Amino acid sequence: MNREKLVAELQHDIKNIRDIIIIGGGATGLGLALDAVTRGYKTLLLEQSDFAKGTSSRSTKLIHGGVRYLAQGDVLLVKEALHERGMILKNAPHLTANQEFVIPAYSLWDIILYTTGLKFYDILAGRLSLGKSCFINRSETLKRLPLLKPEGLKGGIVYHDGQFDDSRMAISIAQACTDNGGIVLNYFKVTALLKDGNGIINGVRARDLETGNEFDLNSRLVINAAGVFADEIHRMDNPGSKPTIRPSQGVHIVLENSFFQSRSAIMIPKTDDGRVLFAIPWYGNVVVGTTDTPLDEISMEPKALDSEINFILDTAGRYLTNPPSRADVKCVFAGLRPLAANPENPSATKEVSRRHKITLSESKLLSIIGGKWTSYRRMAEETIDKGIKAGILESRKCQTRDFSLYRNKTSLNTERLKIYGDKACEIEKIISDQPSLGELLHPRLAYTKAEIIWICRNEMPRNIEDVLARRTRALFLDVRASIKIAPEVAAIMSAELGFDKSWEQKQLDEYNRLVINYL
Ligand SMILES: Cc1cc2nc3c(=O)[nH]c(=O)nc-3n(C[C@H](O)[C@H](O)[C@H](O)COP(=O)(O)OP(=O)(O)OC[C@H]3O[C@@H](n4cnc5c(N)ncnc54)[C@H](O)[C@@H]3O)c2cc1C
Repeated sequence: MNREKLVAELQHDIKNIRDIIIIGGGATGLGLALDAVTRGYKTLLLEQSDFAKGTSSRSTKLIHGGVRYLAQGDVLLVKEALHERGMILKNAPHLTANQEFVIPAYSLWDIILYTTGLKFYDILAGRLSLGKSCFINRSETLKRLPLLKPEGLKGGIVYHDGQFDDSRMAISIAQACTDNGGIVLNYFKVTALLKDGNGIINGVRARDLETGNEFDLNSRLVINAAGVFADEIHRMDNPGSKPTIRPSQGVHIVLENSFFQSRSAIMIPKTDDGRVLFAIPWYGNVVVGTTDTPLDEISMEPKALDSEINFILDTAGRYLTNPPSRADVKCVFAGLRPLAANPENPSATKEVSRRHKITLSESKLLSIIGGKWTSYRRMAEETIDKGIKAGILESRKCQTRDFSLYRNKTSLNTERLKIYGDKACEIEKIISDQPSLGELLHPRLAYTKAEIIWICRNEMPRNIEDVLARRTRALFLDVRASIKIAPEVAAIMSAELGFDKSWEQKQLDEYNRLVINYL
């Protein structure tokens, strides 16, 4: 992935009509781009910020059927998601893992309810099941979760779901798109929709946020995959359009694994606000969340509320022998769910369906909102099929069911590096050529200088946040350590990408402002 080359390709081909332009480079947009390029459509994806900068880097990091939706009776949604879960684990083995969960049980009713429910979850997963769920007694529960408070504990229910790295998955999909002839561009904002004499959308106006250059780009189909910003695109189509999104904020905190000392994740099925709370091992730490706070404002950098952080800490503290405090939080991050609004009750969020919604406007803007990371592939398939059914695209079959995002056959000395995909061996080559580049940037983070160099050369980062937040996960794992390594990362980036000292300083100023939201 090389931004200069991709922009040059776009300019060279500016007069040609593309099949599809996708607005938004999160899970939904990237999934669409991959589906489209692998069907052979000429595809362009435009992202106003970085890939996955929005909701798609701020998830709970689960590839799951959604035990909670089962409790709500949405069996079909769960069945579909479990099927997709199986496919993602098969097609992206470099970024996913089978994760064991334990639900602590405090009454006989808990045991009956959750054991039965999770048996049904297994049945729905069918042959794509990740492991049988079962009841474990009190002592086995405490063996698996040694720092769980033992008072009143009757036992636990074990089940399995998928776990992943969300923003690395986004980059992996973006890479697969360019490998298959698509153009995906970050920092490229759609500012208007273009229409023909009959009022039918035939392209977009977009601005390269790096140069300020504006482009009019034509296509047969424009797809709105702008997540919580989808209504802005709807208003570009029809200034009077009604809101379709009800944003809801979800916050997570990251803690040291020393508070859990377990490889199993914990699932608390019912917290005080009626939500599920997870504590999930992730790259040596534990991600704990989430909340569900309806919001009226949307932003690229949502901020966790004090009440949300306290709620997570209080709830976790009730189950742990050593309750964490605010000083123990290594990172706090907030994300916005692009929930499809319920016209009957626009203020509800927990009750709003997590199912995605695909719509086609009179002027032929195809929009997809809602859904979840787990279903990104299926959502893309349905949306492109809708474009075919509407007669906008010529009919071609979906190719992504068995499309592997990881085809590397070379074995790696450092297994961890496989998160970088097929060409991760190039990072090992950088280190073998110059061993000092294999040194860790910080003792609390697993990342080396060689990785930053390779990322700059291959993954289109434009600023240090792209590297520290989404190419590596340093910001999400340990904000303070990420601040420490930021100057060195800025220096490597400026050497690799041809910037100067003033760029580095500006980058550091911006990064230091940004991290306040995560501390
Ligand atoms: C707290 C939380 C936890 C979650 N946990 C899970 C989980 O564990 N598992 C799971 O499966 N799902 C989970 N989800 C759901 C999942 O994360 C989302 O459904 C998914 O990331 C949404 O992706 P998206 O592409 O639709 O939106 P986004 O990731 O927000 O992407 C939309 C993109 O459009 C871009 N854009 C907007 N306007 C323009 C424009 N004019 N021009 C160009 N680009 C534009 C934005 O910059 C943005 O990057 C979670 C969601 C939240 C909020």
